[in-house]
Amino acid sequence: MSAAARLAAVGGPVSTLSRFRGALVAAVVGDCIGGEFEGAEDVPLDRVLQHLSGVEDESRGDGILQYSDDTAMMRCVADSLLTRVGFDEQDMARSFAKEYSLAPGRGYGSGVIQVLRKLASPQLSDVFQPARAQFGGRGSFGNGGAMRVAPFALAFRSAAEVRKYSRLGAMLTHSCSLGYNGAVLQGLAVHLSLQGALSLPQEFINRLISEMEVVEKEDSAQRDAKALNLAEFPYCTRLHRVKELIERSSVSVEEVISELGNGIAALQSVPTAIFCVLHCLEPREGLPERYGGLERTIAYSLALGGDTDTIACMAGAIAGAHYGIEAVPRSWQMSCEGVEEADHLAKRLYKLYQSQSSGDAVTMSDSNQPQSHASNQHPTHTN
Ligand SMILES: [Mg+2]
Repeated sequence: MSAAARLAAVGGPVSTLSRFRGALVAAVVGDCIGGEFEGAEDVPLDRVLQHLSGVEDESRGDGILQYSDDTAMMRCVADSLLTRVGFDEQDMARSFAKEYSLAPGRGYGSGVIQVLRKLASPQLSDVFQPARAQFGGRGSFGNGGAMRVAPFALAFRSAAEVRKYSRLGAMLTHSCSLGYNGAVLQGLAVHLSLQGALSLPQEFINRLISEMEVVEKEDSAQRDAKALNLAEFPYCTRLHRVKELIERSSVSVEEVISELGNGIAALQSVPTAIFCVLHCLEPREGLPERYGGLERTIAYSLALGGDTDTIACMAGAIAGAHYGIEAVPRSWQMSCEGVEEADHLAKRLYKLYQSQSSGDAVTMSDSNQPQSHASNQHPTHTN
């Protein structure tokens, strides 16, 4: 183990670049490794550990585990933010549509496929319209906006910007507030983790709760919760449950699934991913002692079953931002398709992030305009 890996394993200082790389690489690794158990109802820990030791076997060759829609769309988000030097909904929407048309077999859900097909139309002027038309005008509350949101936390410096653009980015495919607010929550979790906030877990979760209290006060959130027969402040309610569960000395997988969920709805997976990270900050029974926190997080996410690739991808992004790139086993990185590209995107996002003084960040958020050296497309404003 390298000195940096040892430091990461014991929670020592992690550089910001390492956190950026860790966030995107661990997200891809979670997606690739988690694909094995997607949709499985009962995943014994033995099977997870067997799968992971297979991944550690470097003789299997490079890039053997393929990524799914989570990584494919996350790459589009990162690429668009870099090319346009900020959020440009037209560019991002076209990028999703193009990615889908080039590689449709990445496990996209049938709902989002309808949206992506419409986004490919050159006649379309309002790129948010196809998502709004979904499910009889109710919009999707799936976790597709949240699974790809991490690059927003790497591109924007303030929590306010991460909130604003995570929401807009998600609304290109998920117009129900339960869908885009899940993306906001996941974006904020990565944002806080990048700043080292997970070293104080209680404050981390309290901060997420207070952020989401503001988000869920909005009329759209109140209306959608009512329409879906949910209690008010659904994300805050789940986050309070996360808090109760992490305070308990022991909690079973069954309890986690029944309290938080493991499904494809954002409400049933984003708080779950956050719980996985918090729960695995400490060594856990049943997980190998040699595992560091990042390995524990991914292994534990898989053991919950359900939407394992997306939950492991989201938990991976938050955990990777905390532990840094050194904590992602080399053998895992070598076994997963798309890791090198994710690492490259993370390094470029780090440069973009570093290039903004806090003043620039405000300008970026206010104008929502790419800088002059961006390509010659003309993004529209969205407010
Ligand atoms: Mg997937």
